[in-house]
Amino acid sequence: MRLGVPKETAPGERRVALVPETVGRLGDGIEAVVESGAGDAAGFGDDAYREAGATIGDPWGADVVAKVAAPTAEEAARLHSGQVLVAFLQPLTDTAGIERLAAAGVHGFALESVPRITRAQPMDALSSQATVAGYKAALLAADRLPRFFPMLMTAAGTIPPAKVLVLGAGVAGLQAIATARRLGAVVSAFDVRPAVREQVESLGATFLDLGIHGEETEGGYARELTAEQQVAQQAELQARIPGFDAVITTAAVPGRPAPKLVTADAVRAMRPGSVIVDLAAESGGNSEVTQPGQDIVVDGVTVIGTTNLPSTMPTHASQLLSRNVASLLALLVQDGAVKLDWDDEIISGTCVTRKEVAA
Ligand code: NAD
Repeated sequence: MRLGVPKETAPGERRVALVPETVGRLGDGIEAVVESGAGDAAGFGDDAYREAGATIGDPWGADVVAKVAAPTAEEAARLHSGQVLVAFLQPLTDTAGIERLAAAGVHGFALESVPRITRAQPMDALSSQATVAGYKAALLAADRLPRFFPMLMTAAGTIPPAKVLVLGAGVAGLQAIATARRLGAVVSAFDVRPAVREQVESLGATFLDLGIHGEETEGGYARELTAEQQVAQQAELQARIPGFDAVITTAAVPGRPAPKLVTADAVRAMRPGSVIVDLAAESGGNSEVTQPGQDIVVDGVTVIGTTNLPSTMPTHASQLLSRNVASLLALLVQDGAVKLDWDDEIISGTCVTRKEVAA
């Protein structure tokens, strides 16, 4: 069985789907074919792949292709019927890309669709990449704030700690809380899922009670708030946000535009020098003023809309992603051959396009 690993072509994408360490652990019967330069931006050169046992060559003809980003139309044209593709395929938002794969008869496995059950945790690439993003978001906030995060007692006087608010306490939010706490900030957080309060508090942060309680789906995700709840949330936050030096927003509802939590008025009410890091920038942003992919300053408040934060830490982001991909492959490949057991809920749940077999 041949496993192809292409070089990513999306602008700014520095990750790679498989790192040399994982190549060495793929198991008997799996031969990795890595495109030349695929790991360069993440710090893994062709020689490291060769030493791990991979071949450097054309990855597109392999039985299984593992990528980070969904293939472009040009890349998809290189795939063939019956081939397995594993990547972030954006099944809820990239309709054209999914239709392309379906028309080509490709078995498309979307990393976003791995069910959030205990057995699938090693394959949970959304969580591994959200961990990277949450960590980096806290560092960006600390870097751009013209103040210290920790409290300092010096001969020149005492500096109070920064006050940080994290909105959305899923995987990324919890990592942002933990990182901001390690840097010494005083952290508060809010999430619409009531179950999160305990997790926030166990990290030493305060749960901000806005009086808004949303619902949780079976998969552990939040349901979108009603229009009335959204208005109430914006009003509650607007009253409290000026008390914080930095706001890190991570709120998301799968397949929906990012909920707008921070109004333009709330941004303007913050002290000059305050910082907002909007992790939801890619799906439109949690703040009304966020410009995806840009850092802007609104009335003295820096609003960071960097997209794809995991790609800014490509070595560890790729290492974690690679382990997720390898765990999924271990399920799709048996004894050196692709074997898709559609009765397995991870396999059927993760598959978003499938070659139709005549009955
Ligand atoms: P996500 O990226 O979809 O959303 C981020 C957070 O935003 C969520 O916590 C969500 O509740 C919150 N949110 C949505 N709308 C909001 C609003 N209007 N205001 C404030 N917050 C809002 O979520 P995620 O981080 O990928 O995961 C969500 C949860 O799923 C995790 O916290 C975890 O408990 C669970 N999970 C379970 C497993 C498992 O294997 N069992 C694995 C990973 C995650």
